[in-house]
Amino acid sequence: MSSILIKNGRVIDPSQGMDRTTNLLIRDGRITAYDVKVEEKPINGSMRLIDASGKIIAPGLIDMHVHLREPGCEEDETIRSGTAAALAGGFTSIACTPNTSPPMDSQGTVQFVKQQAAEADNCNVYPIACISKNRAGEELAEMGTLVEAGAVAFSDECAPVANSELMRRALEYLLMFDKPVLSHPDVAELTMDGVMHEGRISMILALPGIPAEAEGVMTGRDISLAESTGGRIHMMHISTAGSIDTIRRAKMRGVRVTAEVCPHHFSLTDEALRSFDSNFKINPPLRGSRHLDACIAGLLDGTIDVIASDHAPHAVEKKMQELDRAPFGVVSLETSLALVITKLIRPGHLDWSTALEKMTINPAQILGIAKGSLQIGADADVTIIDPEATWRVDPEDFYSKSSNSPFLGETLTGRADTVIVAGEVKFERGL
Ligand SMILES: [Zn+2]
Ligand SMILES: [Zn+2]
Repeated sequence: MSSILIKNGRVIDPSQGMDRTTNLLIRDGRITAYDVKVEEKPINGSMRLIDASGKIIAPGLIDMHVHLREPGCEEDETIRSGTAAALAGGFTSIACTPNTSPPMDSQGTVQFVKQQAAEADNCNVYPIACISKNRAGEELAEMGTLVEAGAVAFSDECAPVANSELMRRALEYLLMFDKPVLSHPDVAELTMDGVMHEGRISMILALPGIPAEAEGVMTGRDISLAESTGGRIHMMHISTAGSIDTIRRAKMRGVRVTAEVCPHHFSLTDEALRSFDSNFKINPPLRGSRHLDACIAGLLDGTIDVIASDHAPHAVEKKMQELDRAPFGVVSLETSLALVITKLIRPGHLDWSTALEKMTINPAQILGIAKGSLQIGADADVTIIDPEATWRVDPEDFYSKSSNSPFLGETLTGRADTVIVAGEVKFERGL
């Protein structure tokens, strides 16, 4: 097999506490050696040399919360287009949500998704299967057979599990497989038909609000159930100061809880809704600045383990409706890394290592996958990042089939340059 020598890059690998400039050799799909001397003689044909001067070499980024929409909503995204968007965003592995049509509650659907991902041959795809049959919240899905088919985690994403007894049994049952439950924390009776965060701005705009408690109450319940069962709960798209405080205190007690935030929640506030632009309609909604600050504080002190995109593509004709009719969600695979760099690293909120651990080793450990590390012998999944590149978010450039981004037209800094999966260059940005 071929070899790749990446020279003069700053390797930042939180899994082994590494941050230094070196030459990294990849051979036969694996991380093979550091500090390899670049021979003066011409490189032989099977060895590729990549000059990474001024670039950051990170373990292949992992996004554990992606909506690929296939099967069922191929007009929004397909497994092929979504995984291409993932590569362009710097991700070598993604976990995809089960709210497809049909939902991923059977071996057949999980196998279908894996098969489509294998055919697309872009990045690694790990299916998240349903907690309940048909995501109806009534009867547990056949979790054992879903694990057998390759499910790495369980969630009824977008449909909060209202039945506490069902959630308790899911947590108990999954102890046997050491798999996490991924919770979409929301109390439907509190969210009602809200379209944005409930607060001063929703009052001014006279738009129905979604109170912070809709997330906070369910976060408290899920943590309580994880605590009593000993099960593993992962809180998806956390957006409120209250939930973050609840998670922080639970971690101090030793509860097996982990949590993620999404780039839009540390980049934007509900002020954006003044535009009435449906590209700012997200669930959970963009909150006030107090909540945004709490997200950043949670990332900094380790309460928040993961940065995940919650990439949620919607075709233009669906999203371009009145605010109250448009679906929730934004595309974010292709802006996620740049927002981390622009909004967290460059202003000095997080250092590179802390930011990258939340996009590499932490999600790998939560999902139980052998990824997120550049240790010798590991799979050669590598993301080469240009930390200084400035670029404008233009939907014409998206690999995603959809363009419902709240950052259209914005100038961001930093992005993936070259993406290597299992020792093969899968993405290279053109000049
Ligand atoms: Zn959700
Ligand atoms: Zn989601």
